[in-house]
Amino acid sequence: MNGIIINIGELVGVTEPDKRFAAGADMQNLNTIKNAYLHFKDGLISGFGSMAELGSVSEYQNVTDAKGQMVFPAFVDSHTHLVYAGSREIEYIDKIKGLSYEEIAKRGGGILNSAKLLHETSEDELFEQSLPRIYSILSMGTGTVEIKSGYGLTTEDELKMLRVIKRLNDETPILIKSTFLGAHAVPAEFKGKQSEYVKLIIDEMLPRVAEEGLADFVDVFCDKGFFTTDETHDILNTATKLGFKPKIHANELDYSGGIEVGVAHNALSVDHLEYTGNAEIMALLKSDTMPTILPGAAFFLGMKYAPARKMIDAGLPIAIASDFNPGSSPSGNMQLIASMGCILYKMLPEEVINAATINTAYAMDVADKVGSIALGKQADFFIAKPMPSYSYLPYSYGDNKVDRMFIKGELLHF
Ligand SMILES: [Zn+2]
Repeated sequence: MNGIIINIGELVGVTEPDKRFAAGADMQNLNTIKNAYLHFKDGLISGFGSMAELGSVSEYQNVTDAKGQMVFPAFVDSHTHLVYAGSREIEYIDKIKGLSYEEIAKRGGGILNSAKLLHETSEDELFEQSLPRIYSILSMGTGTVEIKSGYGLTTEDELKMLRVIKRLNDETPILIKSTFLGAHAVPAEFKGKQSEYVKLIIDEMLPRVAEEGLADFVDVFCDKGFFTTDETHDILNTATKLGFKPKIHANELDYSGGIEVGVAHNALSVDHLEYTGNAEIMALLKSDTMPTILPGAAFFLGMKYAPARKMIDAGLPIAIASDFNPGSSPSGNMQLIASMGCILYKMLPEEVINAATINTAYAMDVADKVGSIALGKQADFFIAKPMPSYSYLPYSYGDNKVDRMFIKGELLHF
């Protein structure tokens, strides 16, 4: 799509095309142009600047007058599990009533119950259930999303999930990257035989996923009570040989060594990070791995918060993602996640906007394509509802501030 947006009150998130992420004090730098225009050709950003420098617009097709409203780069959500069957509000109520984990599992909660439900759901039905979630996040400003498998836990069901993710990418405007997360939990039939399940992942699941070209990344829930650092090493050794880049669930439940394993395997990101101390910060500082926090999950479960402020002050970059999933974060609203970044983690508006756009793009290996307003990147952006400043976006939490959403320069209709 070719077109131009004129009279933009403020064009937010302008970078050089080769900027890959913002770290430390640089996270407070959010470049903007006031009273701006933005044009795009064949779906890619082809120019922007001050209205004062723009000549006649008669040479452009598709002129949109933003009438002083602001334009933001589309959010990039680098960690979700949004393909799932059914929902788990029963578990939510049980948690409110104070039931134990075992009681909740018995009554229909937990990852294994999501796996049971997914097993009973056909591939077409799983697609139909997941599709509205894609349009929901698009309508709230997300233009790129990562989606994980991990509610299958058998070879066939994992492949079923990954095929649904591929179909969502093919049949909707959103850009999707896919992650194989067979090591999300140990299925019931492997209870007490965890090493056999790890062997199944390595010998059967990973080769099949590679053969069918169904995933970009591989993930392991490396934490207390889930998969050990040794098992994670073994899975990642095979995964990287097959060409998958790692993204790791790490240090949500303990100082589990997950961050260090991720760094050792040059993971794109390590995610959660509630248990991050000085040793973990030092390891991350020496790495190319993006530390990613998931405010929705910590908020929803009432858990401790990752020390984001300390990590940024130490010079690290931080990405923030939704963790959209049925058990611990049933929302993909990145505006709300940005608000949580400010309120719960004491991040500044500039920092959360960088964390939810360019830094998440790096965490998905797509920072050359999306994540900021830069020449040659995809024209993925939204015109926001009228607001006095960009800080209003995380400040005014809870409602949708997207007025019009564009993907590759194309206005979406919902
Ligand atoms: Zn997750």
